[in-house]
Amino acid sequence: MINQLQEKYQLSLLLLLASVASLGIFPFVVMRYLAGNITAAIMDMMLILGISALVVHAYYFKKIRIVSAIIAFFINAGLLIVVIANGLDSFLWVYPVFASTFILVKPIEALAINIVASILLIALSDIFNSVSLTSYVVTITMLSMSTFVYASHSAKQFHLLEALNTIDPLTGALNRRAMSLDIKAALASSERNGIEQLLAILDLDYFKAVNDKYGHAAGDQVLKDFVTITTAHIRKYDRLYRFGGEEFVLLIPVTKEQQQPFIANLRATIKQELKTPDGEEITVSLGVAPWVAGTTVETWLQRADDALYLAKSKGRDRAVFNDE
Ligand code: GH3
Ligand code: MG
Ligand code: MG
Repeated sequence: MINQLQEKYQLSLLLLLASVASLGIFPFVVMRYLAGNITAAIMDMMLILGISALVVHAYYFKKIRIVSAIIAFFINAGLLIVVIANGLDSFLWVYPVFASTFILVKPIEALAINIVASILLIALSDIFNSVSLTSYVVTITMLSMSTFVYASHSAKQFHLLEALNTIDPLTGALNRRAMSLDIKAALASSERNGIEQLLAILDLDYFKAVNDKYGHAAGDQVLKDFVTITTAHIRKYDRLYRFGGEEFVLLIPVTKEQQQPFIANLRATIKQELKTPDGEEITVSLGVAPWVAGTTVETWLQRADDALYLAKSKGRDRAVFNDE
């Protein structure tokens, strides 16, 4: 989930850049062809086809970051070659290419690429016999620095937006929106690769009584503690979501044999560590639904909810597995 917003954004930037680059380069294909410079026309055409092929690849294989990095390398290397070959005619391309690099890779990486490309340009081309080196250094530094500041600011805003979009502000657990997307992805991976996993709904027992006795702020603290304890117990690819109120969902890839011990362990840990302000234990009830073939988002949550209902009605402080 965490990267989905960013991926979509990056992909739309890639598409935009590829379209602008193709539209910008295509007139040169025609001009060079009409001028009889067939080699240059073919090279320009191959550049357009190369960029388009990479973007199509990025779209279908979700390799957006690597494709962006390849294109960044491609346009900067291409820039060096054409400036060395054509001199002043191609020199102005340095500005759009350097600026576009910030769209493709991380701000600090783009800055490094700009600096390396500039040094190579100064060392390898004779352009600075006709262009003032000082003017170049001043203008390109201004361009790179302002684009760097803008791109860094935008990256920070992106992270903030992603957090706001996916994280529950009280507890820091993932929110329902993240959960819906992740459940769909989890179902797809189980259907494709038969990965065994489970979805569990956890509900704090008699939580209303905690609020009534210690106040709402203490109740909030218990919810935060619950998330801290549970997050510390689960592993890297396990996910905890706040489903609403004092109900949480766990999405855990775990083999059939490991499911019972994993849940028993988690429940024991929470029971041992989660306390009221007075140090009284707080227990949880769990409804657990292991993935089975044919599961949908709705049936998975429903099976877990049915099991939770049973756990509650059998007296709470227990886990019930729904093995249907
Ligand atoms: P049960 O064992 O059947 O689950 O009983 P319960 O008291 O935990 O369940 P019930 O659904 O009756 O009450 C849930 C309580 O959770 C009621 C509500 O005030 C409280 N609650 C929901 N969201 C929050 C929250 O964000 N902060 C606090 N402090 N309390 C919350
Ligand atoms: Mg409850
Ligand atoms: Mg509840």
